[in-house]
This record gives sequence, structure tokens and C-alpha cells, in this order.
Amino acid sequence: MKNNIRINELCFSTLSSNNPNSLETYLSQGGYSTWKKIVNDFTDKQEIIDLVVKSGLRGRGGAGFSTGKKWSFINLESDEIKYLVCNADESEPGTCKDRDILRYNPHAVIEGMLIASYAIGANVSYCYLRGEFMGEVYKNFKQALNEAYSNNFVGNNILGSEINIELHDLIGAGAYIVGEETAMLESIEGKKGFPRYKPPFPAIKGLFNSPTIINNVETLASIPKIISNGPIWFNSIGTKDSPGFKCFSVSGHVNKPGNYEVPLGTPFKDLLELAGGVKNNKKIKAVIPGGSSVPVLPGNIIMNINMDYESIANAGSLLGSGAVIIMDENTNMVKVLHRIARFYYSESCGQCTPCREGTGWMYKIIDKLLSGKGSLKDIETLESLPNMIASSTICAFGDAAAMPVESFIKYYKNEFLNYIKNED
Ligand code: SF4
Repeated sequence: MKNNIRINELCFSTLSSNNPNSLETYLSQGGYSTWKKIVNDFTDKQEIIDLVVKSGLRGRGGAGFSTGKKWSFINLESDEIKYLVCNADESEPGTCKDRDILRYNPHAVIEGMLIASYAIGANVSYCYLRGEFMGEVYKNFKQALNEAYSNNFVGNNILGSEINIELHDLIGAGAYIVGEETAMLESIEGKKGFPRYKPPFPAIKGLFNSPTIINNVETLASIPKIISNGPIWFNSIGTKDSPGFKCFSVSGHVNKPGNYEVPLGTPFKDLLELAGGVKNNKKIKAVIPGGSSVPVLPGNIIMNINMDYESIANAGSLLGSGAVIIMDENTNMVKVLHRIARFYYSESCGQCTPCREGTGWMYKIIDKLLSGKGSLKDIETLESLPNMIASSTICAFGDAAAMPVESFIKYYKNEFLNYIKNED
């Protein structure tokens, strides 16, 4: 291991055991002790929220918004019914860290959900898992939930107290857009997974028109240790503005693809080394640092930056969901973009014209270029489309579909031009 990189200490800490997903392993690592203490002390809710604000934890689903601030949008004085939803609809291409947290450390997610529910005053909480998690992931989570119920960590009069929290699991039907938080609320309510107009935001009017907080799996799994070890501990890891650990899903042309949990601010070079380096000792051509919807970065840029929110933003991309897709020197960038554009074209929910039509146009133009029938005019149209789609839609999907196109042409325009055989 290079330098002082610490790996798998938070969400993936149970991986050091032979039976990582068991209650026994979780308890042996101090699991549920934070929740027991909160229940026994009947800890002040605001105190918990303040602590999470101080920790600097930022949502690990993609947006990177302060988790504590999000919780503080709930009016604790109001006697309205409140809900917590765990977003386990991990669908961003390249991302598979929530899948493994649910599979190997499901009790951390459950304990995090309990603490968050309690802090915002919710008595009912849902974990919404993506449809493709049916199988080992869902089985492990369900088993953990049953264990949590049988040990009275969840349910009525938790551990002899007056605290009641019901926790339900739900499986989606496989649509990417249901990962968007308001589309997820629609789906839980039994409707089509269409994103809602905002405002009102879910913290004001969410599930069943009640105040609702939606947090990602990794975010919630981080909560128990942040509360037990304290915000100073969490702040001591990572960087000033990007504290703590982050799970990165490293895929593509590397020798050891997988999930790596490292401090934010870890140099990209070190993360690449953990993943075994580029396959066949080839040079790195490009990297998508945060899931397929964020701008691509050329290898020579990313090789010199650190993996935290600010460094990646300064380089012109986003940390997003932490899905790091590595492409070697032989990668055909037009074909990669063709694949990405096809995905967003098929996953648009179709409510907004710029997104519904624009994603189709982008895909069809790239398809035309690949077939050798494209023209310079097509490239000009492709360059202009992202601007027409971004920021003009109900949800962020429009931007997500536009950003890859913009960045691929920015850095690799020559490869697109090479497909034009009969220039006008
Ligand atoms: Fe649907 Fe796209 Fe509009 Fe989002 S931006 S609501 S995915 S059409």
C-alpha cells in the first residue's frame, strides 16, 4: 500500500470478516451501540442534526449537498407526519458501491436509517432498492432487517423505550429515473416514476405530501460511526471541504476493478494503483470520474488531481456518485459516447420536450457519424444540443445527458471528425 492511504474503514469495515453481512460481525465492531445510546439517553434530535452538520458529511449519491443541512430543513416543531427514504436505486452507469454496502454491511444502512429517522422525527422509513438488486443484495438486506426487527432495534417500543420506527423495504422496476428523488417518491406512492416540479422540495412536501428526507445508502451507512466517533474524527479524514471517506467504484481498463473506500482527497494516481493500474501497461487516455453523466477528463489532467469534490470541479468535471471509469489509449471515444447517449435516450422519462427529443437527436447523430454518413453540419448540431437541453428541464437528467456529449466533443473532436468521409 502506498503512503498512508487508509481503505475500507467506514462503510466497508465488515469486509475484514468472513461473514461480513451478519449481525454478529456488525455487533462485534460496535454496531448498533450508537443507536442504543441514542435510545437510552433519548438524545435531543437537534443535537444529532448539529453533529452531522459539523461533520461536514456531504450526500454520497451524486449531488454532494450537506447531509446535516438537508436534515435541518425539517421543522421539528411541526406535528406533521414525516418520512425518511433511503435511496438504494443505484443506477448511474459505473456505480456499484451501494450494491456492495447493502450486500456486505446492511446493518450499517439500517442503523443509519434509524438514527436519521429519529433525528428528523420520522416514524416510518422506506429503503427503495433498484429492481436489479433482487437476489443476493436484497436477500442480505432483508435478512438484516428481519434480524433488526427480532432484536427490537426497529419496530414499536424500541429497546423498551417509547420510540416507534417502522422500516420497510421496496424493490423498484428498473427505471434509471426513479433514482431522482421525487420520481422515487411517486414510485413509492404507487404511481409512474415521473420527477416532480420543484419547489416544493421534499423536505416541505414529499412522500404522501408530507415532509420527507431522502438520503443515499453510503450517506446513511456513514452516520453511526460519525455520531459515535464525533465530527472531529470525521473532519480529520479527507480535506477541509470534502471530509471523510468515499467509496469509489473503479471500472474499465484496470487490472483490479472494484469498490475502494479511501479518504476524499486521495490522489487519483493512488486510487489507480489500488485498482492494479491500467491493463497491459497501456497509457491512460480518459477517465469519467463520477459516473457516466459527468464530463470526461483526459488522462493527463486527471493523473495530477485528487479525488475530492473541489479538485475535480476545478478540473472541469464532478465527483458525482464516485464511479471512476478508466479508458486506455486504444479506446474509441465516439463509440463510448454512442453507448452513453443510447442509455440516456432510452432512460428519459419523456415529460420535457428538450430532454425527450434532445437525447434522441444526440444519439441518432452519433449513430449517423459512426455509420460513416455524418457531415460537419451534424457535428455542429451535436455541439449545440447540450446548451439547448441543460437547465431547461424538470429534473437534472437533462444536464446529465448533455454533459458527456459536450465534454467528449471538447476533448476528442478529431475522433468525431475522422468519421466524416464526405465533407460538405
Ligand atoms: Fe423526464 Fe428528462 Fe424531464 Fe427529467 S429532464 S423529467 S427525465 S424528460
